Amino acid sequence: MNDAPAADELLFLPLGGTGEIGMNLNLYGHDGAWLMVDLGVMFADANRPGVDVLMPDPSYIEDRRDQLVGLVLTHAHEDHIGAVGHLWQRLRCPIYATAFTAAMVQPKLVEAGIDDEVRIIEVPLSGRFSVGPFEVELITLTHSIPEPNALVIRTAAGTVLHTGDWKLDPDPLIGETYDEQALRALSKERVLAMVCDSTNAMVEGESGSEAEVRKVLMDVVAGLRNRVAIACFSSNVARVETAAKVAVATGRRVCLAGRSMLRVFQAARDTGYLGDMPPLVSEEDVAYLPRHEVLLLCTGSQGESRSALWRIANDENNRVALQADDAVIFSSRVIPGNDKAIAALQNQLSRKGVEVITADDHDIHVSGHPAREELTRMYQWVQPQIAVPVHGEARHLAEHARLAQACQVPQQIVGANGTLMRLAPAPAEIIDHVTAGYLALEGGRLMPVDSSVLRSRQRLAYNGAAAVTLVIGGDGLFQGQPMISAPGVLDEEDESDKLMVVIEALTDALKRLPAADRRDDATVEETARLTVRRAFSRMLGKKPVTKVHLVRLH
Ligand SMILES: [Zn+2]
Ligand SMILES: [Zn+2]
Repeated sequence: MNDAPAADELLFLPLGGTGEIGMNLNLYGHDGAWLMVDLGVMFADANRPGVDVLMPDPSYIEDRRDQLVGLVLTHAHEDHIGAVGHLWQRLRCPIYATAFTAAMVQPKLVEAGIDDEVRIIEVPLSGRFSVGPFEVELITLTHSIPEPNALVIRTAAGTVLHTGDWKLDPDPLIGETYDEQALRALSKERVLAMVCDSTNAMVEGESGSEAEVRKVLMDVVAGLRNRVAIACFSSNVARVETAAKVAVATGRRVCLAGRSMLRVFQAARDTGYLGDMPPLVSEEDVAYLPRHEVLLLCTGSQGESRSALWRIANDENNRVALQADDAVIFSSRVIPGNDKAIAALQNQLSRKGVEVITADDHDIHVSGHPAREELTRMYQWVQPQIAVPVHGEARHLAEHARLAQACQVPQQIVGANGTLMRLAPAPAEIIDHVTAGYLALEGGRLMPVDSSVLRSRQRLAYNGAAAVTLVIGGDGLFQGQPMISAPGVLDEEDESDKLMVVIEALTDALKRLPAADRRDDATVEETARLTVRRAFSRMLGKKPVTKVHLVRLH
């Protein structure tokens, strides 16, 4: 590719996360080089049966891999690092991350079998390093995970502040608070653009502090008599520490339940966090403790099936159980799309007589993203020339742009995945739309979501399937009766009468086929397919995905 960014240019290209909350992938282009920021996944909803996660289609940058000088990870949330193990082999560039983020990425590399190929360059908090023609400085922010970093990206064509995910938490409990001084200092160097988190651009006020959550959880748990479980995101290490402190204060022992809870705990301990945790009890030992001396800290706040809380609620954990008069505290928010799964889990707990306590009852959760007052303060500190809203759906981006305008930012550019923006030289504008899309992890394979396999998978899920086998003998006549099976459409044992109706309709249609047509495979197959679909449609109001197999005997 000879369309490399020019020496006087600073380009910005989001390939994921601009138009949705999830699967972030951002690219900065300058002087023949591209710098990637974040490489994340997004969880697929129930409309994509069989697909666990989605990730950005990186083909644009894959085609220009020789220009890709590095990948900088802002923080360790899945929507920022989750695709590294799946896509790195297509990109093959060095990765830059702070210690905790690196510790969270490492197991993904091992799982992908690429841990001896990938070079993670560990950078210190507030550190400065150069990657190709980009000078990068980290600025410590606060979020809902340790070590969230904004990136100051300096080039000969201009400077960008890429905020990553952030909030302004004066007391984040884990790690330093946000580096206000460094942010204010940026206003003196005339920042060209600020590429900024839009998640809560429609939320008035401030996001609130982890310290407040700790106080409230302390009171809530102090009022509970029996076994208590707290469900939260495992990556919220401050919340994990809060649960431990609450346990100590209320005479309980902490048990961590869920693989990701243990994995994040280990990464946090390995990188110097959670130093004064009380000793944990294992799931095996929980049974030996009186019920009022147990505090379980579980994964499953989003109702995920097979998660720790889900297994406990469904009696699938033979070491740890909950019963009537125990309590489960959801110290989390409902991520849109997970509403039903969460309600199902909460119903299951309620049926057992377990008390369910959520953020609707008490202030036991704060968001990790900036509400409008925080966004306003950030614009006042940094005073960029251009606002580029990212990390949001279209409505969040649009609202964020209006807020930036109200904050006197001279220009706002709202794009979408694949929008190539030229930030410098002036005038800043959208100059192209490049390939962007979603890849789905389907079993062990990555494929575009609009691939024929996934499109027919979706149709199968909604309509069921019918398989038809026809045999034509050497005499050119149909042999015996057509065979039809219709999984997901008919119960083959109890509804054989219905199946007979379809078989008869098919037999009739085939009988009417002229001898010349019977010699043509495509005509026979299409006639059979349409007849079967029509017969099912008349009978059941459903047109199953129908596949015809024609066997010719010679
Ligand atoms: Zn995040
Ligand atoms: Zn994020």
